[in-house]
Amino acid sequence: MSYYGNFYYKTPTVGELQAKARKSIERARKKGVIYDPIVVPGTGSQRKLCTNWWGKAWCANMEQYSDYANRLPRGQRYCRNGMVIDLQIEKGVVHAKVQGSDRTPYDITITIKPLSQKAKKAIQERCEFGISSLETLVAGEFPKELQDLFTAKEGLFPSPSEIKFHCDCPDGAYLCKHVAAVMYGIGIRLDQKPLLLFELRGLDPKSLVEKAIANKLESMLKNVDRPSGRILDAQVNTNELFGL
Ligand SMILES: [Zn+2]
Repeated sequence: MSYYGNFYYKTPTVGELQAKARKSIERARKKGVIYDPIVVPGTGSQRKLCTNWWGKAWCANMEQYSDYANRLPRGQRYCRNGMVIDLQIEKGVVHAKVQGSDRTPYDITITIKPLSQKAKKAIQERCEFGISSLETLVAGEFPKELQDLFTAKEGLFPSPSEIKFHCDCPDGAYLCKHVAAVMYGIGIRLDQKPLLLFELRGLDPKSLVEKAIANKLESMLKNVDRPSGRILDAQVNTNELFGL
């Protein structure tokens, strides 16, 4: 219980917050809006948020910045308890809704600067000639041969100077617990769908895969001493192959 001005404010329990979250999801559904909540599998307050390289790398990247250190643990708890009831990753921006003590969930927007042209070009060039790396990547695993590329200073993981937050809660802090919860939520989403990180940083994952396949076909055809050609469209359905 906390004392605010003339009245006592009872901090809601996790169970109460979860009930509010379920109601918010249901209210949106009745209006025809389907939320995409962040779910951390398993039970227990210490269970891992991420299990794959991508999610772990996203979380490790933000945890190394002291600017974020104070608020991150509360955000982690919020995320684990299912308070991030909607999270959408798009090019350069993440929109999310986080359930707090109010009836209406808070709206959070996280804007991330797109990669520089130079960094984009470096990633494109390396991916275009590494189809096996891309296969590993699309399968949710991590292509070790591309590690330096992704974790370099101008790699796929953003630094605080490239990230801007906004939350409509009354907490005046720049990085409130709702924003922190969404930052972990992004890691969990990337754990399941790593190609969204490419999209978030302004790269088109579909075109990367298509170019990699085209280059692979071309080099294969050269090897069998036959003329190469523009046979990609006719023979390879990249959507089916990679589930894009
Ligand atoms: Zn907030």
